[in-house]
Amino acid sequence: MLKSVDKKNLFKRLVEDDYRYYVQMQYILVLVILTSAVMSIMNYFTDQREMMMVTFVFFVICLLDLWIIRRAKRASAFAFFMIETSILALFTYFLISGGAEGFSVIWICLLPACGMLFSGLKRGVILCAIMFGITVFLLWTSGGQALLRYEYSPHFHMRFPFLYLFFFAIGYIFEKIRAETNYELHTLRAKYERISVTDTLTRVHNRYWFNEQRTKMISEEMQAEPSAAILVDIDHFKRINDVYGHAFGDVVLAQVALAIEACLRKNDWFCRWGGEEFLAFIPGCSRETAVHIGERMRSAVNNLRILHESGEEVTVTVSIGIAFTEAGQVWSDTELFSYVDRMLYDAKKCGRNCIRSGMLK
Ligand code: GH3
Ligand code: MG
Ligand code: MG
Repeated sequence: MLKSVDKKNLFKRLVEDDYRYYVQMQYILVLVILTSAVMSIMNYFTDQREMMMVTFVFFVICLLDLWIIRRAKRASAFAFFMIETSILALFTYFLISGGAEGFSVIWICLLPACGMLFSGLKRGVILCAIMFGITVFLLWTSGGQALLRYEYSPHFHMRFPFLYLFFFAIGYIFEKIRAETNYELHTLRAKYERISVTDTLTRVHNRYWFNEQRTKMISEEMQAEPSAAILVDIDHFKRINDVYGHAFGDVVLAQVALAIEACLRKNDWFCRWGGEEFLAFIPGCSRETAVHIGERMRSAVNNLRILHESGEEVTVTVSIGIAFTEAGQVWSDTELFSYVDRMLYDAKKCGRNCIRSGMLK
């Protein structure tokens, strides 16, 4: 039934309420469709003509509703409205007519038991409350009783709304607990997802995040365009730690990371590669642009004045390696990384605070 649902991510996405209602609504609709089909057949064979017509119309409406949400790939407000009003109409009919000799009324208790499951807490409560109002009106007021075509016992009149209320309370408690648990789960998931891809010190992406993107890097689509990898390493960073202390070294790292990141566009990939090294990958980037960006990074760091507690303004420099790839060139990520590392090594050898670049062969 759920062929269009991505099974792999099903449980991950079920945490998102809209998607969960879409999935649940499909299951519930299929169940209701099957039940109303069986009931229509049963009503036909037990000669309950009017009931048969009503259950059959309900069956068609549910089928239509399922078709609508499957086509839209989501449970729209219209689909909700359609099924909710049909359920209210069907159950009101059950109460007035008594259905199959008073039995059909029992079905009404299903609404508070699972109405909130597919309509959500807010809509579900409104839906169940409307049905409760209808029940009370028909069973407890003289105006309502005058509309009844079936003669219920006085006990039934008195007790049924209480039974309904009990189901309502149970349904509410379950859905409320689920909704709150779900909210917590959702926030926690978002928090840990963010933490898992962020470098705690510099707040830029971490290497894990970058590695997650690596499969995209070697895709045909990405290699159809020229690209560049830029590896940046802070010069003599050990000395900063030795002279000003490790804590100040941390401050320098964070400021350098931000200064480098500011030279990139939103779609460029950037991470703290390790220690005092940062790696950028720029898709769809010409040689000239890459060198220009590298130069911007180098001078942005060079212009940084990082204030030490002693009042001294500390400066740092970076060495940069750049590796280019041509449009249509087939390359592997490991080749690219080892080449850009070689370029960085050359920049270090050439005296630091400079850029060395080359085309990946
Ligand atoms: P080079 O110019 O050749 O790159 O010299 P360098 O001193 O920058 O390189 P080296 O690899 O010798 O030292 C890197 C230093 O970076 C050593 C390490 O303690 C420091 N480092 C790595 N990660 C952190 C960190 O998170 N915080 C601080 N404060 N220092 C770090
Ligand atoms: Mg270094
Ligand atoms: Mg290094």
